[in-house]
Order: sequence, then structure tokens, then C-alpha cells
Amino acid sequence: MQKPPTREQLRRALTQVEGDIRWWEPLAPLTSLHVGGPADVLVMPAHVADVLQIVRGARLGKIPLTVLGGTNVVVRDKGIRGIVMSFKQLTNICEEDRHVVYSQAGVRLPRLMQFALGRKLSGIEWAAGIPGTVGGGVAMNAGTRLGVMQDVLKAVDFVTSHGKRKRIEAHTLTFLYRKTMLPKGIVVGAWLQLTAALKGTIQSVTKDYLHYRKTTQPLTLPNAGSVFKNPDGDSAGRLIEAAGLKGLYLGDAEVSLKHANFIVNKGSASAEQILSLVRKVRQQVARKFGVRLQLEWKVIGER
Ligand SMILES: Cc1cc2nc3c(=O)[nH]c(=O)nc-3n(C[C@H](O)[C@H](O)[C@H](O)COP(=O)(O)OP(=O)(O)OC[C@H]3O[C@@H](n4cnc5c(N)ncnc54)[C@H](O)[C@@H]3O)c2cc1C
Repeated sequence: MQKPPTREQLRRALTQVEGDIRWWEPLAPLTSLHVGGPADVLVMPAHVADVLQIVRGARLGKIPLTVLGGTNVVVRDKGIRGIVMSFKQLTNICEEDRHVVYSQAGVRLPRLMQFALGRKLSGIEWAAGIPGTVGGGVAMNAGTRLGVMQDVLKAVDFVTSHGKRKRIEAHTLTFLYRKTMLPKGIVVGAWLQLTAALKGTIQSVTKDYLHYRKTTQPLTLPNAGSVFKNPDGDSAGRLIEAAGLKGLYLGDAEVSLKHANFIVNKGSASAEQILSLVRKVRQQVARKFGVRLQLEWKVIGER
């Protein structure tokens, strides 16, 4: 097992970084599930130059580096060793060219949608109700039955694992279900190709989809979106419900009564309880239907 970096090593990697730096910072408040222990150090880069510095410093010091948007992850209870970056300050957005929007990676999808609506630009209505960042959305190829990130992504503003910034054209990338095959590195922004549309049409699609979510998903309790990917030709929620697992709980972690492919935190669930519940659901669905469900969530942090 790799030894955790010392404070001195971390400090060295972060010299010249201008963004906000917080030592031993709890990560639960940064996650939509409200679980997870502290980061050795949490950094909120002030600009992309900071990201370049951090990537280079981490590489030089062999320090693990994690980017956290926080809405599709479970951070383990012991937290994350090394440097965790949150892009809360990388939130610039503009219409750079006709119908081409450039968004920094830290912009939340709902804000991107508001921006597009304000300019009567259509193409990302599928993102209604997805709370993640543009960076996470690109990395995950986020989407719904209305569409996916791949449909509008023109190019990715990217920082390689060597700390070099480059533009990657979307047509050179492979997109899978909830995964974009990117080189090792970090998304710092994205160019999106949208189209002109009537404001009312955009609003109506968005409103309908938000209504659908509200009636089918447990949006009033902390969660991290769909727990499992849908297996080919079936739905994870249907299988979990058919296995009689709705309402199964461990402490405050519960398989949602509203949507079986959501696990909610009813108060003070730990990451360990949530992950035990995930294991139970997976085992029982495998036993009953012979289907091995694949996690959509990313599980990160120290065991
Ligand atoms: C209520 C709710 C509903 C949701 N509904 C949907 C839905 O309908 N469809 C859907 O697809 N998702 C949904 N999600 C999940 C989530 O919002 C998306 O997957 C989102 O794209 C994740 O973005 P994030 O910024 O939170 O990334 P995180 O959850 O922090 O990270 C997800 C993965 O992306 C990587 N990543 C994050 N940022 C970057 C970056 N800048 N550069 C490189 N890699 C990065 C992380 O390392 C990790 O592997 C939902 C979540 C919630 C809470």
C-alpha cells in the first residue's frame, strides 16, 4: 500500500497555487449523499493555471489527485488521501461563437441550462435535474432518456496528467454508457454545440422532465442519482423492485421506496452502511435473476 503523503510533501506540491486551500477538510458537505471523511487537503483552484500547477506538483511528488463534483460518488468514511480538487471557482460560462457555449468544468448543469435558456439555445434539455458539474458530466457522459452529453459536446478543454493543457475534439473520443473514454487527466472546460430554439419550447421540455423526475425519484432526501447502470434491455430499478428490495435499510441508508435504483441517506448513514446495502442489493438481484448489476456510482477514498 502506498504511504500517505506528508503535509510537507503536500505543501510543496501546492506552492504558487492561488486558490482556496483547506487542510483536513470534511468532504461530506461536498457530496449529494452527505457522507465521507476528510481530504488531506482540499483545493479550490482560482483559475486553470492553478490546475496546471497542482497536476504538475502532484505528479512530481507522486501525490494522489482526485476531482470532486460530488453527485455521483460515495466518499468512504476515512476520507481521501492526497489532494482533492473542487472546481467551485471555475464557473465561467460564455457564448463564444454563434450557438457554441464554452463552460468551465465547475459550472453545475442546472446553471448551464439557465444560461442556454437565456440565449434561446437548445440541446441540453436532457440535463434537467442532473445536479453534477460540466466536468463530471463530460467524464461520465451524463444523460437521460432525452439525450446525453455526447450529443452536444464539441470539444473538451483538458489538462493532461503531465500538466499540459490541450483541446480534444469530441469526434476523436469514444463515448460509452455513462463513460467518456478520455486520456488520463482532468476536464477543465467544454465547448458545446447548441441550436437556436424558441424559449417556450425549451421551457416546456424541461418542465415536463423535471415533473417526471419529481414524481418518480426521491429528490427530497440526500442521494447520488442511480446506484447501478441499467443492464442491457432491462432496468436496474425494475430488477431491484422485483427482488422485493424497496425499503431495505441499514441504519439511515435505505433503498428508496419511490425508486428502487436510488439509495437515500435518511439522516446519519455512513458510507460503510450505504456500501453494505449496495452489496446486499447486488447479491440478492444476482441470486434471484442471475444478473450482476454494475455500479454507476464511483466509490472513492481510503478503505
Ligand atoms: C438527484 C440526482 C439525479 C441524477 N440524475 C442523473 C441522470 O439522470 N443522469 C446522469 O447521467 N447522472 C445523474 N446523476 C449523477 C450525476 O449528477 C452525474 O453523473 C454527473 O455527471 C456527475 O458529475 P459530478 O460533477 O458530480 O462528478 P462526480 O460525481 O464528482 O464524479 C463522477 C466521476 O467523474 C469524474 N470527474 C468529475 N469531475 C471531473 C473533471 N473535471 N475531470 C475529469 N473527471 C471528472 C470523477 O473523477 C468521477 O469518476 C444524478 C445525481 C443526483 C444526485
